[in-house]
Amino acid sequence: ALKKKIVVLGAGYGGLMTVTRLQKQLKAQEAEIILINKHHYHYETTWLHEVSAGTLEPERVRYDIKRVLNRNKVTFIEGEVQVIKKDEHKVILDQGEITYDYLVVALGSNSETFGIEGLKDYGLAITDVNAARRIREHIEQQFAMYTKEQNEKYVTIVVGGAGFTGIEFLGELTNQIPNLCEKYNIPQESIRIICVEAGSVFLPQFDRELADYALSYLEHKGVQFYLGTMVQKALKDGVIIGKKNGEEEPYKIEAGTLIWSAGVRGNSVIVNSGFEHIRGRVEVNLDLTVPGYPNIFMIGDCSYIINKENNRPYPPTAQIAMQQGVTCARNLVKLVKGQADLEDFVFDDKGTVCSLGEDNAIGVVYGKKLKGTTASVMKKVVDDRALFLIGGTSLVLKKGKFKFFS
Ligand code: FAD
Ligand code: NAD
Repeated sequence: ALKKKIVVLGAGYGGLMTVTRLQKQLKAQEAEIILINKHHYHYETTWLHEVSAGTLEPERVRYDIKRVLNRNKVTFIEGEVQVIKKDEHKVILDQGEITYDYLVVALGSNSETFGIEGLKDYGLAITDVNAARRIREHIEQQFAMYTKEQNEKYVTIVVGGAGFTGIEFLGELTNQIPNLCEKYNIPQESIRIICVEAGSVFLPQFDRELADYALSYLEHKGVQFYLGTMVQKALKDGVIIGKKNGEEEPYKIEAGTLIWSAGVRGNSVIVNSGFEHIRGRVEVNLDLTVPGYPNIFMIGDCSYIINKENNRPYPPTAQIAMQQGVTCARNLVKLVKGQADLEDFVFDDKGTVCSLGEDNAIGVVYGKKLKGTTASVMKKVVDDRALFLIGGTSLVLKKGKFKFFS
C-alpha cells in the first residue's frame, strides 16, 4: 500500500506531543509525517508571562523544533497556515499548499477581544514570544517616557482580566517593579497597577482559601483590583471602565499600558476554514476527530470536549493539549495500520498551579491544596515535566527551571 501522509499543523504542546509520540510508534516506511509551524522554534506558552514582565529573556522560553524531531521520520516545514480546504484534503500555506491523508490541527488560540473597541490597537495580549517581548519593551518605553515628562499615566499599567494569565502576569510584574524603578530612577509610590475584572468574585472556580491568599498577596504587592468591572473601550492613553451592573457612569483611567488577558478563542484559521465552532473552537468527537471529517483530528486550544461532570467544556490548557496529543498519536497509528477501533480521550486532571511570581504560587495538585514556596516549586516541576514529555532529559537540562549544574 502507498505510504499514508500525516500532516500536523502547529508545534505547540498538542502538535509536538503528537509528533514526538508518532515518531516513536511508527517506522519510517509506515507513514510520511510532516509538521508545519509558523516559526522554526517551539515556545513554552505557559512561560510567556515571565517574558512579558521581563523576568525571562525571550530566547530562554523557546527552542529549535528540529531538536526534538527524528529527521528520518519527520519533515519540518516553516510556514503559516492560511486555510484548511477540508473537502479537498489540503492545506493552504503562505507559500504553497500541501495535501494530506490525515490531518492534525493544533494551532492553539488567539486573544479574545469580544469586539471591544480599541483593543486590537491598544491592548497588549500575551500570545507568543514576539508579543511577550513587545510587552516588556513597551513597559520600559513608558517608564523611560515618565522620566522625561513626569506624567503618571506612563507608569500606570492596567491589566484587563484576572484569569490565570492576568494573575500570573501580575505576580511577575510586581516582582519586576523594584528593578524597573531602580533602572529608571522612579519612586515606587508613583507606580499604579490596576487589574479590572468583570466577575464579582476573584478566581471563582478556585478554592476560596487559595484565591483569598492570592488576592491579598497581590494587593500587598501593590495591585488594586476592581472586581465586577469591565473594560469597555481601549484608548491610546488609557481605558474606559465601568461597573458591570451599570451602577456608576463609565470613566477613564489614564494609562500607558493595557495588558489584555480576558480570555482566548480558537485560532482564526478554524473560522476561516468553515468549521462549525463556538468562539473558534470545534467540539470534537471523543476520539478527537472532527464530526463529519474522520481524517481530521483537532486538539488543544482550537478544540473542546464537554466535561460530563459539569456539562461545560474543559478549559483550554497545556495539560489537556498534551494528553490529547498522546491519544491522537495512538489513534493515528491505528488508522495507518488499518485498525478501526479508535480510542476515546479521557482527561486525567492532575490539578492546577497558578504562579504568583518567581517564589510564590497557589495550586491544587492531585486534590491537595498548596500555597507559597511549596506551590512555587511544584509549578517548576510542572514546567519541567512538559519539557521532559516532549524532549526528554536533555531538553530539561538545557531549558528546565531547576538549575542542575549551576
Ligand atoms: P500552543 O501551545 O499555543 O501552540 C500553537 C502553535 O501553533 C504555536 O507553535 C504557534 O506558533 C503555531 N501557529 C499558530 N498559528 C499558526 C498558523 N497560522 N500557521 C502555523 N503555525 C501556527 N496551561 C496549563 O495547563 N498550565 C499552565 O500553567 C498554563 N499557563 C499559561 C500561562 C500563560 C501566560 C498563557 C498565555 C497560557 C497558559 N496556559 C497554561 C494555557 C496553555 O498555554 C495553552 O492551553 C496551550 O498552549 C495550548 O496548547 P496548543 O498546542 O493548543 O497551542
Ligand atoms: P480566562 O478566560 O481564564 O480568564 C479571563 C478573565 O477575564 C475572566 O475572569 C473574565 O471574567 C475576565 N474578563 C472578560 N472580559 C472582561 C472585560 N471586558 N473586562 C474585564 N475582565 C474581563 O482566560 P486566561 O486567564 O487567558 O486563561 C486562558 C486559559 O489558559 C484558561 O483555560 C486557563 O486555565 C489557562 N491558563 C492556565 C494557567 C495555569 O494553569 N497556571 C495559566 C494561564 C492560563
